[in-house]
Amino acid sequence: MASAEASRGGPRLVVLGGINMDLVVVTPRFPQAGETVIGTRFFTTPGGKGANQAVACARMGARTWMVGRVGGDAFGEELLASLQAKGVDIKAVLRDETTTSGVALIEVDATGQNRIVQVPGANGRCDASDGERAAALMSEADALLLQLEVAPEASLVAAREAKRLGRLVLLNPAPARRVPDELLRLADYLTPNETEAAALSGLAVRDPSSALEAARALLGATTRGVIVTLGAQGAVWAAHDGDGHVLPFLVKAVDTVGAGDAFCGALAVALAEGKPLPEAVRWANAAGACAVTRPGAQDAMPTRAHVETLLEGPVW
Ligand code: ADP
Repeated sequence: MASAEASRGGPRLVVLGGINMDLVVVTPRFPQAGETVIGTRFFTTPGGKGANQAVACARMGARTWMVGRVGGDAFGEELLASLQAKGVDIKAVLRDETTTSGVALIEVDATGQNRIVQVPGANGRCDASDGERAAALMSEADALLLQLEVAPEASLVAAREAKRLGRLVLLNPAPARRVPDELLRLADYLTPNETEAAALSGLAVRDPSSALEAARALLGATTRGVIVTLGAQGAVWAAHDGDGHVLPFLVKAVDTVGAGDAFCGALAVALAEGKPLPEAVRWANAAGACAVTRPGAQDAMPTRAHVETLLEGPVW
């Protein structure tokens, strides 16, 4: 594989995916239909798997381009400013004036349960033209990172060009939904969580050994590696020349939101740098662990220094 990274002194990533504003309401209890309940807190926080993973890549020191869409509303402006402030290049994000930005309305009750209504807005307008903007950046990049929050046509256009140029393609098949076979074939690495691994493989995934079975089953002829994230149980990986379970780092978890996105971003950066898969999974595992020690999604994405400190700490 031609590594553009080697000649440029730093990994370069293109992330094509969803960009959302999360609107969070904290309430003593959920209202019944037609009822009004007085909540205790409201805040907005930038999210979307694509945007979260782009921030994760940038924090790990990669030159990172985000590709996708925000709406013509005030959230669109805020989402762009927030990505830029976190070091992500937004020149390939389209401001679609004909629609609203993607939002997730999240109600959290006193027991910590949540109820979410998501409106894709501009994310739902992504089509092959967004894939073309990503494709146009691939000659400058080492890797392409995809999820399933935007239309598969967009991802397919970008992935075909990445493969044509010999660049790495990583697919985080989240949220769990059907993936076109061609997209699976174009992905060098797949990073499902337990639920997504079960949905994709048709196998029950409960623990590291069943996750490893699912990972092996998903390892097709063209895919180089499948990594299943297992929350507080770490992650398992399967490749054509071996497999393994990477134990979790022991940390005090305060908020697990964004752990999977930190993992995927760090894994993509490590692989784009040419790290072997087992080492890249260890990096990603450390990034996921760092993310759970801090509240929020994008705000919790660790820096490279943070990840290195955890990796250099005592071995458990
Ligand atoms: P998702 O949020 O996509 O379901 P996971 O919950 O599997 O993702 O978490 C992703 C990764 O983050 C895990 O594979 C692990 O490396 C790390 N992680 C998540 N929760 C914890 C935890 N409680 N302690 C240590 N590491 C964790």
